[in-house]
Amino acid sequence: MISGSVDLHTHSSASDGSLSPHQLVDVANKIGLQAISITDHDTVEGSVEALDASAPTPLEVLPGVEISADLPSGGMHILGYLISFRDPQLIKLLGQLQEGRRKRNREIVARLIDLGVGVTYEEVLETAKGGQVGRPHFAELLVHKGVVHSFDEAFGKYLGKGRPAYRERFRPRPAEAIQAIRTAGGVAVLAHPYTVERADPYGFEGVVKELHALGLQGLEVYYPDHGPQRTAAYERLAHRYGLVATGGTDFHGRAKSGIHLGVGRGDLRVPYCVVEAIKACRK
Ligand code: AMP
Ligand code: ZN
Ligand code: FE
Ligand code: FE
Repeated sequence: MISGSVDLHTHSSASDGSLSPHQLVDVANKIGLQAISITDHDTVEGSVEALDASAPTPLEVLPGVEISADLPSGGMHILGYLISFRDPQLIKLLGQLQEGRRKRNREIVARLIDLGVGVTYEEVLETAKGGQVGRPHFAELLVHKGVVHSFDEAFGKYLGKGRPAYRERFRPRPAEAIQAIRTAGGVAVLAHPYTVERADPYGFEGVVKELHALGLQGLEVYYPDHGPQRTAAYERLAHRYGLVATGGTDFHGRAKSGIHLGVGRGDLRVPYCVVEAIKACRK
């Protein structure tokens, strides 16, 4: 039991996680989490379902989403907490992102066929079981078909940026993503900042400064891949810009092996006061 902890970054089968929102709520209750947020890629469907599922249980579910945004050095992910699911601007942006994924997914299928890999769009949809299709579903299908042995090989050979089946998709400017989250009454947080730092170590702080000027309110400081040194550096960075330090595991179920709900690789703990800080941000 890990009572008193929270996990504010999780994925359900509404995007590329392997557990349904109901199952996620069940597991969270079983291990004694106090709060979770389902932050699926570019959709709030999982979050809506989890909120319903959690109502008769002790678990608190924070409305959440993880929006892909554009960055010259690569993509970035912006988490939105406490968003209103009914906000027209947010719904419109998520619709554009979903349409962009559909277009990109068809292009990936066409590329794979050109490369001699026999896959169909229908097989990809089946793999995603009705959820938002992401590249991890392509990776799963390629492993399932025996085209590659692992997710890593699928991304390394075909799906990763710069690989032959990689295709761009629509991503809004960070300003638009942040604004949509805030207009919907939400709190905007930069997800796994190390991915931004890794892509452009020298420009990193400038990006955070710029995002802050655009209305960013938080930084995902506590994350399985950050390690003690990075975590401390991000705590200082958050403090410098008056950003809330948030955290979560980026749990995907079996779609991301080694990452467990609530604890990441075993040692991550995010205290409930982070939820209070996020709520305070909105006032
Ligand atoms: P998409 O949003 O459909 O473009 O897919 C991006 C997702 O694929 C990310 O959120 C990661 O979970 C996953 N991903 C990206 N690169 C890799 C990689 N090299 N190995 C494994 N998973 C990856
Ligand atoms: Zn994901
Ligand atoms: Fe992410
Ligand atoms: Fe994520």
